[in-house]
Amino acid sequence: MPSIRDAVVVGAGPNGLTAAVELARRGFSVELFEALDTVGGGARTEELTLPGFRHDPCSAVHPLGVNSPAFRDMPLARHGLEWLESDLAMAHPFPDGTAAVLARSVGETAASLGSRDAGAYRRLVAPLLPRWDTLAADFLGLGSALNGRLPSAPFDLARFGMAGLQPAAWLSRRFRDEKARALVAGMAGHVIAPTTTFATGGIALVFALAAHARGWPVPRGGSQSVSDALAAYLRELGGVIHTGSEVKRLDELPPARAYVFDTSPTALARIAGLGHAYAGYTYGAGAFKIDYALDGPVPWTSPEARRATTVHVGHTAGMIDDALRRATRGQDPERPFLITAQPGLVDPSRAPEGRQVFWVYGHVPNGWDGDATEVVEEQLERFAPGFRDRVLARATAGPPELAARNANYVGGDIACGSAAGLQLLLRPKLARVPYATAHPAVYLCSSATPPGPGVHGMSGHHAARAVWRRLALGR
Ligand SMILES: Cc1cc2nc3c(=O)[nH]c(=O)nc-3n(C[C@H](O)[C@H](O)[C@H](O)COP(=O)(O)OP(=O)(O)OC[C@H]3O[C@@H](n4cnc5c(N)ncnc54)[C@H](O)[C@@H]3O)c2cc1C
Repeated sequence: MPSIRDAVVVGAGPNGLTAAVELARRGFSVELFEALDTVGGGARTEELTLPGFRHDPCSAVHPLGVNSPAFRDMPLARHGLEWLESDLAMAHPFPDGTAAVLARSVGETAASLGSRDAGAYRRLVAPLLPRWDTLAADFLGLGSALNGRLPSAPFDLARFGMAGLQPAAWLSRRFRDEKARALVAGMAGHVIAPTTTFATGGIALVFALAAHARGWPVPRGGSQSVSDALAAYLRELGGVIHTGSEVKRLDELPPARAYVFDTSPTALARIAGLGHAYAGYTYGAGAFKIDYALDGPVPWTSPEARRATTVHVGHTAGMIDDALRRATRGQDPERPFLITAQPGLVDPSRAPEGRQVFWVYGHVPNGWDGDATEVVEEQLERFAPGFRDRVLARATAGPPELAARNANYVGGDIACGSAAGLQLLLRPKLARVPYATAHPAVYLCSSATPPGPGVHGMSGHHAARAVWRRLALGR
């Protein structure tokens, strides 16, 4: 390392690792500091319950990762990343044993919604699907438009925006029956906000198009494989990684021409002495996460749910909206909307033979310190009777445990910032370059910046772009 590094990155989540890689591959010297003993942030894998059961404590399923222009431009497969896809990307079962599904094929998905809505679904996604790659680049590149690069297909983006800027609840009005409405609400529910929130229709559309284009895969070996591949590539490029190094003050770090923070805006303000720069930034509802070791597959009543790596559990669009609304209003969960994943369907390396890992989370108020295990399992039993009999062990984490696991999950908010108001799009605040800060050498690259939460590395990519433009000026 030179005595003055070009860039120091703080935090080895997907965005911090991506920012470090993007700078290193352009010839800049990069050193990265991570608080925990392993890299990964929200993309890690651990034996949380019993020996041989490899759980993802945070992210598990990667529709955004496999479609990320940043990841697709890196040789991550050479560093061990392999995407595995199930027969169905997602199933949304109903109490009568039927299910709406999200398949690779638009036709199969449309057919699962019933004859009254099949045509409306086709008309919604079919025109956009052939343009998905440029749309994905433009959608995930929202930050770069603010960073001096215009969308490559503005007409397509505008067409997407006409449906996508609507709340999911409005988008659902084009459907007549509950199956399609519940499917849309479940996809929008990945944003932890009521389905009447601005632009949640766009989130549902992105998840649907991503499934039809490349599926919703899981990485072989778990989400840690994404982080390990990024870290291996960074080292190959000459980058240096220090783990077990929590950064508390800017002046603890080695001298550098730029500092890039994969942290919450609040932590950045504290560490870099930025005062009240992000005082208006708000955090959203939290998650209650359970990782299960099971003695066999989940006994779903719906045959489709037994074939899908992701299963959404919440009867109707109204019930999903109610569960999200309760969490954002500060009320205890009653019938939580559950996002669940069963990566063992496609990856036998995750558990001893015949056994399964099972991943579940629901939504709870920010900072909530109750135990949601009972309401989560009651909800699972409605769709998979006998589920509890399969449980060998469980590891639970509510907001306090999630926040202790990762400083970015403020109050258990796994999105590192609320999606309320315009904050889903304008993060951390309205600015031409949202990655820049009041300190000319300090940048923010976490999911608190556009395009927001998810394992896609695009916030890191855009922040790195702002940094390399500045560093190149000084060369
Ligand atoms: C339960 C759960 C389920 C999820 N499911 C999915 C999913 O299935 N698919 C998906 O795409 N996304 C999912 N996500 C979201 C996804 O994990 C995050 O959006 C993503 O990891 C954000 O990446 P990041 O790099 O911005 O931050 P993070 O991944 O949070 O990484 C930040 C890193 O910075 C480190 N750090 C923070 N402060 C400091 C400091 N002061 N000094 C040093 N290091 C520091 C942290 O330890 C951490 O390693 C999930 C998240 C959770 C918690």
